Amino acid sequence: YLVIRVITKMIKTKLIRINKFRPEPEKIRYAADIIKRGGLVAFPTETVYGLGANAFDENAIRNVFKAKGRPADNPLIVHIAELKDVHRLAKKPPKIAKLLMERFWPGPLTIVLKKKKIVPDIATGGSNTVAIRMPDNRIAISLIKSVGVPLVAPSANISGKPSPTRAKDVLEDLKGKIELIIDGGKTSIGIESTVIDMTVMPPIILRPGVVTLEAIEKLIGKVKLLSFTVKEEKISISETDSKNFLKSPGLKYKHYAPNAEVIVVEGKAKDVYKKINLLADEALKNNKKVGIISFRKDHKYKNCYTAFAGSNAKVVAKRLFTILREMDKKGIDIIISESLSGKGIGLAVSDRLKRSAGYNIIKV
Ligand code: AMP
Ligand code: MG
Repeated sequence: YLVIRVITKMIKTKLIRINKFRPEPEKIRYAADIIKRGGLVAFPTETVYGLGANAFDENAIRNVFKAKGRPADNPLIVHIAELKDVHRLAKKPPKIAKLLMERFWPGPLTIVLKKKKIVPDIATGGSNTVAIRMPDNRIAISLIKSVGVPLVAPSANISGKPSPTRAKDVLEDLKGKIELIIDGGKTSIGIESTVIDMTVMPPIILRPGVVTLEAIEKLIGKVKLLSFTVKEEKISISETDSKNFLKSPGLKYKHYAPNAEVIVVEGKAKDVYKKINLLADEALKNNKKVGIISFRKDHKYKNCYTAFAGSNAKVVAKRLFTILREMDKKGIDIIISESLSGKGIGLAVSDRLKRSAGYNIIKV
């Protein structure tokens, strides 16, 4: 009994609401004090909710990995409030990295640079690089400033689950495991930041996001997109990309997955519609509860719970993780999703959708 008590030691998780336009200073100070004492605080950013800890406190960082059940080799993004903080964390960023910072910060772009010694190895999964971002959210910025040091802040969910876009998602996953959750409303973007590795030439986009490949190339010229193909549900990567793949270990893990099985159907709209109806009928015959994610208003699926996720990638980004979580709550067994175009923000949304399906993709 005693052993179990030690392992499952519960923390009382508090939830406070903070105004995202005018964060109340006394509430920010309250949250900052918890972090200063080595505690964990979930807070909103413009992308998803982050689980914040002092980036220089190894013990606190260890607790972040523990609370999330995150593999130790999956590095954390360090969040800063001011441009000058970059130089505390990273060795001389290249000129084009500075261009990106000036153009896209604060905002949903994470930049990987050579790290300085001050950044604990545990935060970067032993890597000699550090991923840095300045979030575009007043609560996040006030909190970082109030603590006075950069914060590591991975998505505030259980590792592998859909990322949290609402305080109640965080509560569902991390209740009893962290000290405080700041409720700052629904996040405006809904998927995680673009991650770009600026320690190599050409730079490589490790994770697509709403700062698009197209927008980045317009500013700094050609960049590579980390690409991998999928065979029989196994991710396989080209020889040349395998080195880069391992550079962002987070990529190899199961991600964004609801409890339900997810299938993505790719092809021409008409064929996709037909195939999904067939798959749904089959699943219903086997007494499975079916959920469908659609990007077309003119597709009316019968007898199944259907979530119209929007026809514009930006809107879909905002809703996708909520839809996945809500479908789990409805006890849905199989989620069948249409696919969307891989251009611009569509690339990021497709990436999350396919990962949530564990690359279970049917082409018609
Ligand atoms: P999360 O904060 O949960 O959204 O995940 C952070 C993402 O950034 C993961 O995919 C990590 O692999 C990636 N990342 C963090 N630090 C680094 C780094 N130093 N080099 C490459 N990728 C990184
Ligand atoms: Mg995450």
